Amino acid sequence: MQTHQAHVVVAGAGPVGLVSALLLANQGVKVTVLESAPTLNRDLRASTFHPPTLDMLAPLGLTDDLVAQGLVARYTQQRDRQEGVIAEFDMQLIAPDTDHPFRLQCEQWKLTQMIQAQLNTMPHVQILFDAKVTQVTQTAEQVQVDFNQADEARTLQAHYLIGADGAWSAVRRSLNIGFEGFTYPERFLVVSTAFEYADHLPRLSYVNYCSDPHEWCVLLRVPTLWRVLFPTKAEETDEAVLTDASVQARLQNLLPQAQAYDTQHRTLYKVHQRVAQRFRHGRVVLAGDAAHINNPLGGMGMNGGIHDAMNLTEKLLRVLQKGESDAVLDQYERQRRTIAIDYINASTARNKRDIEERDPIKRKENQQALRELSMDPVRARAYIRQSSMIDALERAKAIP
Ligand SMILES: Cc1cc2nc3c(=O)[nH]c(=O)nc-3n(C[C@H](O)[C@H](O)[C@H](O)COP(=O)(O)OP(=O)(O)OC[C@H]3O[C@@H](n4cnc5c(N)ncnc54)[C@H](O)[C@@H]3O)c2cc1C
Repeated sequence: MQTHQAHVVVAGAGPVGLVSALLLANQGVKVTVLESAPTLNRDLRASTFHPPTLDMLAPLGLTDDLVAQGLVARYTQQRDRQEGVIAEFDMQLIAPDTDHPFRLQCEQWKLTQMIQAQLNTMPHVQILFDAKVTQVTQTAEQVQVDFNQADEARTLQAHYLIGADGAWSAVRRSLNIGFEGFTYPERFLVVSTAFEYADHLPRLSYVNYCSDPHEWCVLLRVPTLWRVLFPTKAEETDEAVLTDASVQARLQNLLPQAQAYDTQHRTLYKVHQRVAQRFRHGRVVLAGDAAHINNPLGGMGMNGGIHDAMNLTEKLLRVLQKGESDAVLDQYERQRRTIAIDYINASTARNKRDIEERDPIKRKENQQALRELSMDPVRARAYIRQSSMIDALERAKAIP
């Protein structure tokens, strides 16, 4: 197939859809992105970019701009809400493994806006907003994507469709692909505030996982705000969690202040651990949250989705431009689905178990193990490689 004939539709203009679109468009593939919302999403969702993701985005001209708009986090911390720092990890230990030995704290919407600006300059790329995918059908030669735009039913034909339309993926549902796993009974509350925690909590880094048997939390810095993530109780209603009184009570319990906290955003998320039964169905391939979702402890959802996009588009380009058999897309499924199950879902589930551990003996054992690990540079480097998703990428590469 000649490049100029190849046409790929991407459902969803989130980070995964847009990274996929850019990688294909840079090689001359005609790309149409269908996005159901009227504009790009600006919610405060992902804020952590892991080192290998920054390595991957660098050749696309994105990493330097992201770094300029974010915060370089050299250290990450495991803390105890009562005792303070338990273990601190210096990301410089993985300098031999990456060009970016740090976590970048930067809002995910900054990435999507930068990519949109690049795509807007390309005549062979179209981004259609208010374009909601409703159904997908396919033959051996092409895929047909039905969507609604401004109440008008429309259809597009393409050689391949990338379903990057998020957790509730219409693409996945249209193909009856199961989304196996579970939903946690509690939801996660994310509150952002301009209050400067670092002035009050000694030695705070930009990324802090704070364990507690009653109410763990995560404190994450982005350039202008602190984001605080709390679990809610299964029996609390959404309305009750989101009241001023309840949000203030949580913040005051974390760090008592004479005055009320000034909060900028408060959002409640349902949290799931789920992986699609298949990542490929003929000419349709799932990536990102459409293929796998997980709790945000460890910052692996968007990062893992971008790793999917890299893996998938490299193979799709081989099919579209080098005439390789599209059986290579099955390898994408084998590689990335294995990582979604064995690595992303397993690690995030373990992170949640550890941070909320209630058994006092186990808590102390876990904390002592982390302390010892952080003080041994060889083991600390291995730990950081694992939590930065470097090991997962190497494992995926080795899967035939
Ligand atoms: C509180 C929180 C914190 C997080 N922190 C991190 C973090 O630090 N690091 C990290 O890696 N991940 C994090 N994540 C996860 C991360 O936000 C997601 O994994 C990421 O957004 C997935 O990107 P995506 O492009 O696959 O899907 P999405 O970002 O969900 O994008 C999907 C797009 O598809 C569109 N769409 C939906 N349905 C249709 C349709 N029918 N037709 C057309 N378009 C459609 C949507 O409007 C949306 O724009 C966090 C998540 C939450 C909730």
